[in-house]
Amino acid sequence: MTELEELSVEEQRLEWDTPLFRTALTQFEQAIPYAEVNVSIAERLRYPERAVMVTVPIRRDEGHVDVFPAYRVQHSSVLGPTKGGIRYDPHVTLGECTALAVWMTWKCALLRLPYGGAKGGVRCNPRELSPRELERLTRRYTSELRGVIGPQEDIPAPDMATNEQTMAWIMDTYSMQVGHAVPEIVTGKPVALGGSLFRHEATGAGVVMVIERACGRLGWPLAEQRCVVQGFGNVGGIAAQELVAKGATVLAVSDISGGIYSPSGLDLDAVRAWVAAHGTLEAFPDVQHVSNHELLELPCDILVLAALEGQLTAENAVRIDAKLVAEGANGPTTIEGDAILGERGILVLPDVLTNAGGVTVSYFEWVQDLGRLFWTRDEIRARLADKLADAFDRVWELAEEKGITLRQAALVAGINEVAAALKARGIYP
Ligand code: GLU
Repeated sequence: MTELEELSVEEQRLEWDTPLFRTALTQFEQAIPYAEVNVSIAERLRYPERAVMVTVPIRRDEGHVDVFPAYRVQHSSVLGPTKGGIRYDPHVTLGECTALAVWMTWKCALLRLPYGGAKGGVRCNPRELSPRELERLTRRYTSELRGVIGPQEDIPAPDMATNEQTMAWIMDTYSMQVGHAVPEIVTGKPVALGGSLFRHEATGAGVVMVIERACGRLGWPLAEQRCVVQGFGNVGGIAAQELVAKGATVLAVSDISGGIYSPSGLDLDAVRAWVAAHGTLEAFPDVQHVSNHELLELPCDILVLAALEGQLTAENAVRIDAKLVAEGANGPTTIEGDAILGERGILVLPDVLTNAGGVTVSYFEWVQDLGRLFWTRDEIRARLADKLADAFDRVWELAEEKGITLRQAALVAGINEVAAALKARGIYP
């Protein structure tokens, strides 16, 4: 008897069934009672439509070959092509990509973008790869996905440890294979290649637009808020800068080397200059150095999570000393952590709303590429602010009307959009 045959049908776990996927699924189940979705449609939405697993061999600079597992998961194509980032990280798994693809579906639907969700990644340590190795990895990964990505099928974008350069390599590889330039195959490209102005800043700036809108509803002047930002990359770094531009005080930020804290507020220009010169926050002078765990528990008004998933858990949620948590990262709060924050009256601005600025400007980029007509930075910033304000208001009002959390409301709003479309289309054939 094989191991599989010994398991009952209920015990046989699906390949993507990991703790992060369980988080995404549990959030879905918690939203379903408030959504307008019938049993059959809900059942279909519990599964990704397609999950591709490949292995990517690359020749290392010293000459030998290493092979890395890689994935691309497409959760739902009901509303249009699938959309979502590509990450390079040692923790990338099929389950992680599936959970992140599910969240992309709700995020795109909530923002009323004509997309479904996808996510992909390569399980590797990008810090151990040279730029030439990263280029070979990206080009080979793109070739492996040739049959499943496309401007009308699935459009990648940056995520953890991928950037404009990575997207340029994807665009070039795909374009060389089809024989002409296809800028609309990826978003988050360099502006020189058909990338959008303001895409680089969009996720971090969007986080602060959502925070500002929430502060407006709560009657809190943003300029009086003391903020702690976990993460100092493309999301956290820009969010911190935008918070300061709006007059708020940023007390602490962190990166892979740990956190820096100044109770009177950090000089972010100096911090950015230090990171540009030294690579990390390590040894930044005249501040308190704290661990990532300590950073999360610092007393503040607004805690911005812009690093990794699974940061606020049953273990530390009891000690969080903030009034508002803004999820700039995807999935930074566990189900248990979320429940504790709720019981303690700490408001959580959920990821699918709070970090949606990135994919929204990705959508603007794709539209500009397809139309071969480009917009100004001010126009893009204003359109983004409108989109996020509209989504925020719908979420806030739904939460009040149904007496549910902002996370549940954001998921209900997203699920309702997808469910209505799937109901109208029907299950094929
Ligand atoms: N990776 C980003 C996200 O999680 C952006 C996706 C995109 O722009 O398509 O939302």
